[in-house]
Amino acid sequence: MNRPEPAVAIYVFKGLRSTKGQKYSHPAACHDELLWIGAEVLRDTLSRNGVDVGYTGPATVNRNKVILVSITAAREWWQFIRERVRWPDGKYTVIVGGAGLTNIEPFLPYFDCAVWGRAESFICELVGQAIDGKRYRNANLCWADEYDPGATYRFSQAESVYPRTLVVGGKSKRKQKWIERAIGCRSKCAFCLYSWTHNPVIPAGESGQFNTICREGTFWTIDYADPPRVTAIDGVSERIRLTIGKPITNEMLTEGLARLSSESPYRGRIKLFNIVRYPSEKQDDYRELAECFNRADGDLPRGRKALGVELSNTPLIPEPCTPLACAEVCANQYAQGHIAALLRQYSEHPGQTKYHYFSGQRLWAIETGGTPSLASIVLEVIALRAKREDAELIRRIACSTRFWNAPRPRQWVTLRAEAQAERFCRRYYWDELPTANLLGVVPRRVLEEKAEQIFARLFA
Ligand code: SF4
Repeated sequence: MNRPEPAVAIYVFKGLRSTKGQKYSHPAACHDELLWIGAEVLRDTLSRNGVDVGYTGPATVNRNKVILVSITAAREWWQFIRERVRWPDGKYTVIVGGAGLTNIEPFLPYFDCAVWGRAESFICELVGQAIDGKRYRNANLCWADEYDPGATYRFSQAESVYPRTLVVGGKSKRKQKWIERAIGCRSKCAFCLYSWTHNPVIPAGESGQFNTICREGTFWTIDYADPPRVTAIDGVSERIRLTIGKPITNEMLTEGLARLSSESPYRGRIKLFNIVRYPSEKQDDYRELAECFNRADGDLPRGRKALGVELSNTPLIPEPCTPLACAEVCANQYAQGHIAALLRQYSEHPGQTKYHYFSGQRLWAIETGGTPSLASIVLEVIALRAKREDAELIRRIACSTRFWNAPRPRQWVTLRAEAQAERFCRRYYWDELPTANLLGVVPRRVLEEKAEQIFARLFA
């Protein structure tokens, strides 16, 4: 006898692929590989309260009563719409949430309820009522047909770390135990959606500056005896880093690179995540970063194995609820190799290839692949800043096979012509943002004051 379908299912996007590029035939396998921890916390919470939760894909959504959709980044809306318009009809309630859920205005036709922030404290009530055809309400969620642009919505906060150990990636090689060590971050970098929307819950003995699953450490807490393989600088110059709240001076960076090369037992590669294209950024900012490499390499004794630095550059995305929410987005053509070219100009030992901009005695550095294209960045910015009146435009682009099959530069041309993409990239006023009334952990007045200070320092 066939087991009945669970009333609740986590939606797995059809088009998501594993890191190896193969498509998954079964939603559960895809989910396991993707390590969606937030969705896993909700699944665990519901299961412990007697609600069976399964997985579903676009062809089977009508077998469940409640579909949970995780939007992990704003750019996923495009794919969601592409799939959502083809879902079979049925009596199901679509609940969207996830780490990337902020702006909902142009996406109202595609879901029933949106939930901001941590939902484990009310998910059982919300889902239970939805199964019975009723509506649970609080300030952390919005029913699409009741959306009010004048109302205030808030990110839900967790009171404590999740008390149970979860196993994520169950069917993959990346299977691992997940224990939540802390929530939020004391640093509050100006671009960081996570820290401005999560109240810190940092138990004694935890630093609160670690991603619990990736071992991504902050540059100023590096243990050189056991260094992280991934960390972030998030700004090319000291001026920018200190202004946006990333306290890494040039001296710290130079010393850190030298020590990673000479002291650490691990002398392979380190990946540095970086954010570029802040307002006011200039050539001189790139000169500073190149000079840190020049100095770090010059201070090192010769003859030992070199440390490789992979610099991963992402342009600033003005996330809502952060002090940089209104920032202008650089809408010039942007491609991998561009930042390497800027750095090579000031490098004392430029590398041989397009992406290899430093090749010293003890250090070498490249710009890594995976740099998002200008079209990808602008698609994300549109998802963050579009309004209800842009819904038809978004639907047209999302459902255009021609657009998604086109090369990235062609997509950018289309976005400029059809969406006047630059209008989403300009500097905004707070009241113009569709997320102006969405609150993270501080009132909007505090964000505005912080933003004023940051912009005054950037342009001083
Ligand atoms: S970017 Fe990292 S260090 Fe900065 S606030 Fe966010 S989590 Fe903390």
